[in-house]
Amino acid sequence: MSDLKALYQEVILDHNRNPRNYRKMENPDRFLEGYNPLCGDRYTVYIKMKGEVIEDISFQGSGCAISKASASVMGSLLKGKTRAEAEVIFDQFHRLVRGESKADAEELGKLAAFSGVSEFPARVKCAILAWHTMKNVLEDKAESVSTE
Ligand code: ZN
Repeated sequence: MSDLKALYQEVILDHNRNPRNYRKMENPDRFLEGYNPLCGDRYTVYIKMKGEVIEDISFQGSGCAISKASASVMGSLLKGKTRAEAEVIFDQFHRLVRGESKADAEELGKLAAFSGVSEFPARVKCAILAWHTMKNVLEDKAESVSTE
């Protein structure tokens, strides 16, 4: 295993063990549940906006290490970002886990830890679940998210 892969694995293990922003938000502007029936991952994503800025974001639920670490990294990256910035980061992440772009560690930071997921198509849905849910929350969609 290369040093880079070991480092990436460390990021995922760390965020799985100690997920950031893992809590139910008391008075979110919006929240939605996302479900990945293939793996059984199920999370609720909560967002509080201040104008166009994501003032607070949190999640709660259960699932595999990749889905939980992905939700945790997402929250720590998106807090304080605008809606437009969040959509750009979503697109970067989406392309990365689908293997459509090479990880640029400097640009993507902790997101690059998920670049290896593209080699495992079944895990792409785990990695993207919280992100799809977040996007639907931002777009104010009422439907809960299912990766199927
Ligand atoms: Zn999963």
